[in-house]
Amino acid sequence: MKTKFKSNVMPTYGEKTLEFVKGKGSYLYTKKNEKYLDFSSGIAVNSLGHCHPKLVKALAEQSKKLWHVSNLYLIKKQEEFAKLLCKKTFAEKVFFTNSGTESIECGIKIIRGYHNYHKTGRSQIISFDGAFHGRTFGALSAQKNKKYSKGFEPLLPGFKQVEFNNIKKLKAAIDKKTAGIIIEPIQGEGGIKPADLKFLKFMRNICDQKGILLFFDEVQCGFGRSGKLFSHEWAKIKPDIMAVAKGIGSGFPLGACLSTNKSCISMTKGSHGSTYGGNPLAMSVGLEVLKIISNRNFLNRVDKIARYFWKNLKELEKQFSSIDQIRGAGLLLGIKTHTSNLEFSEKLKKYKLLNVPASDNVVRLAPPLTVSYKEIDKSILIIKKVLKEM
Ligand code: PLP
Repeated sequence: MKTKFKSNVMPTYGEKTLEFVKGKGSYLYTKKNEKYLDFSSGIAVNSLGHCHPKLVKALAEQSKKLWHVSNLYLIKKQEEFAKLLCKKTFAEKVFFTNSGTESIECGIKIIRGYHNYHKTGRSQIISFDGAFHGRTFGALSAQKNKKYSKGFEPLLPGFKQVEFNNIKKLKAAIDKKTAGIIIEPIQGEGGIKPADLKFLKFMRNICDQKGILLFFDEVQCGFGRSGKLFSHEWAKIKPDIMAVAKGIGSGFPLGACLSTNKSCISMTKGSHGSTYGGNPLAMSVGLEVLKIISNRNFLNRVDKIARYFWKNLKELEKQFSSIDQIRGAGLLLGIKTHTSNLEFSEKLKKYKLLNVPASDNVVRLAPPLTVSYKEIDKSILIIKKVLKEM
């Protein structure tokens, strides 16, 4: 189906052929009431599915009281949400943003600010190949991926890229200029690649030894997606800084940069800001999302259903030679195919299973964390059908 009208939206997303008018739980509906099983979750965003009743209620109630006042004034819900985020994580301070890439920018500033404050003379930030941190210049410069930055150069100086999951190369890359390391504990756009837990642990140790700040990008893999509240918890380590977004608002535009007190020493009055970040509407939703997701029973259920999904996908891997590899963790899974992932993705969509392609020939499956066993079974049947046809 081709777009039938002349669009005034910048064509950065290419042609769009599907339109949804309603969402409920794990499903999206078209105008003709065609029902799609949504395992894209708005690219790992709708953590609690579409129109979760508790979120609808929180947003509706807040929308009748107060939408926006700016950070010039005290926002009690922001204080409450920041307190709960700190209670549930390593963090002691939170800066609220509206997106993932803004959270990344804030983290980069924290790293630079820390070293400038302490006059260490360090400014270089190490990132990893295959990384995706967003579309702003800091993020583009950190990920050094031509796919996203070609035509927009020059990038910012001060970033160095190292092979993902390679301890030896990371060790060799660290020098007296190294100020910070930024890593996604599970690479999303890069092809659903989890960092080795050994690699993350090594990173924590070397950062401690050398006074380097460790910055985790959990924009995609955080907020329950891995079966723990944050995916770095599997490695039993803590970062100094962490960027979050996507699942934190379950569809409401919201992000945050979390930090220890020590790391964000330079984030003083006037050093950073956001007009909308942390506004009452966003806070009312985010607070509710965190209360639901951080519940141990909720996370245990995510872990259990994710393992069920994994087991079923692994069965398909054995049965179909067109599958190269099943990878990922929790409910952030990827099917790497020998054939074109784009073709595979489109075929799944035809059978009304929404998914998102990722790099490295991967089709990404990121169902809402509230997905049911019945919905997982349904997705497996569709995937099987498509694999048979291919
Ligand atoms: N970091 C990661 C790991 C992401 O996956 C993304 C988006 O996909 C971003 C940062 C940027 O987030 P946003 O698109 O909300 O700016």
